[in-house]
Amino acid sequence: MLSWEQLPALLAQPGQIASAQQVVRQRAWVEISDRALSTNVRHLRQLLGPQTDLMAVVKADAYGHGALKVAQTVLAAGASWLAVATLQEGVELRAGGIEAPILLLGASNTPEEVEAIARWKLQPTLGAVQQALVFSETLAALGQTLPVHLKLDTGMSRLGTLWTDAVGFGRFVAQLPNLSVASVYSHLATADDPDPTIARQQHRRFTEAIGALRAANLAPPRLHLANSAAMLSDRALHYDLVRVGLALYGLYPAAHLREAVALRPVMQVKARVTQVKTIPAGSGVSYGHLFVTDRPLRVAVVGIGYADGVPRNLSNRLEVLLRGQRVRQIGAIAMDQLMLDVDAVPDVQAGETAVLLGTDGNAAISADEWAQKLGTISWEILCGFKHRLPRVSTTD
Ligand SMILES: *Cc1c(COP(=O)(O)O)cnc(C)c1O
Repeated sequence: MLSWEQLPALLAQPGQIASAQQVVRQRAWVEISDRALSTNVRHLRQLLGPQTDLMAVVKADAYGHGALKVAQTVLAAGASWLAVATLQEGVELRAGGIEAPILLLGASNTPEEVEAIARWKLQPTLGAVQQALVFSETLAALGQTLPVHLKLDTGMSRLGTLWTDAVGFGRFVAQLPNLSVASVYSHLATADDPDPTIARQQHRRFTEAIGALRAANLAPPRLHLANSAAMLSDRALHYDLVRVGLALYGLYPAAHLREAVALRPVMQVKARVTQVKTIPAGSGVSYGHLFVTDRPLRVAVVGIGYADGVPRNLSNRLEVLLRGQRVRQIGAIAMDQLMLDVDAVPDVQAGETAVLLGTDGNAAISADEWAQKLGTISWEILCGFKHRLPRVSTTD
C-alpha cells in the first residue's frame, strides 16, 4: 500500500494508472482490466483479414480508461496504430514513451500546432486546402517532411473535403513540398444503425472518390473508413486499417452487433460505503429532498458523486451493487457523495465496496444501462469519469 507521503507524486500525472497495490483505494476509483482489454483486442483482430491493421482509438484519455496504460496494453495485444483527437493527447502518449504511429483525428490549423506535431512525430489529418498550405509552409521552414492523412467528407458533414473534390484536393496536396500522403480516409455517420442505407451511400461515395484518385495517379498507400460499428457490421468496410474505439473497451455500438464478437467491459467503477444508519419515516434525503422516506429506512452513504462522473440526472434512478445485490440510490446525487436504500442488506458496513459499473457476483451494471436511462450513448458515460478517480489496473 502506498504511503500518504507518496501520494502527491503519484497524482502529479493525470490519468496515470498505478498498480493496484500502489493506489490508495480510499474513496472511489476506476478499475481497468488489462486482461479484458487484451482479450477484446485479440477477438477483434480475429475478425480482420491479414491486410487490415487495427488502429486503437485512445482519444479522451482512452474513453476515460487512462490513455497511456491502454495504449501500452493494446499495442502489446496486437494493435499497431493509435488515434487521438487532440495534439495534447498525442504529446502525452509520446512523452510516456509510445513509439507507434499516432493519427491525430482532429484538425490543426496554426504553424505552432504544426511545429509541435512535427516535433512529436504525430500524423495529422488534413481536410482542407488552407490547412495543407500551413502544414507545407511550416514544415518547409523546419526542413521536415511529415506523413499526412487526407480526410474526405462522404456524408458526415464534419471535417474533410467533400468527396466530389477528392481529386482536386489530392492533386493540390501531392504538389506541395514536405508532405507525404500516408492515407485517405472518411468517417461514417450511421454505421450503428441496423438500416444500412446511409452507410452504404457513404461507402459508395468513398469508393467513387478513391476510384477517381487512382485514375488520376493519386492512389494513396492506405485507405480506412470503419469505426467499431462499421468494423463489426461489414467486412467490405475494413480496408487497410480499422479505427476502433468503443469495442476495445468492451461495449457494443448497437444491440444488433452483439453477435459479431465476444467482448467484455474493461472498466468498473467502485466506491466505498462511508456511513450506514437508519433514518426515521418522513426524512428528506439529500439536496432538495427529492426523496422522502415513508418509513424508517436503512441508508448507506457512498463516497462518489457527479464531480467524479456519476451523472446527477440519474438521481433517484440509479442502481448500485452491494454484496452482489442491486440496491436503489435515493435523493439527489451530490458532488462527492450519494445515498443508497440498503433495507435489503441492513448489516452492510462502512468500508465495504459498492459497484456502480461492473460486476459483483452474478449481478452486473453496464454503461449501456446508464446511457439508456439518460437518453445518451455509452461513449459519453465512459468519457465522463474524471481524473479525480484513480485508475487501478487489475489482472482479472
Ligand atoms: C472516435 C472516432 C472513431 C472511433 O469510434 P468508435 O465508434 O468508438 O469505434 C473512429 N474514427 C473517427 C474519425 C473518430 O472520431
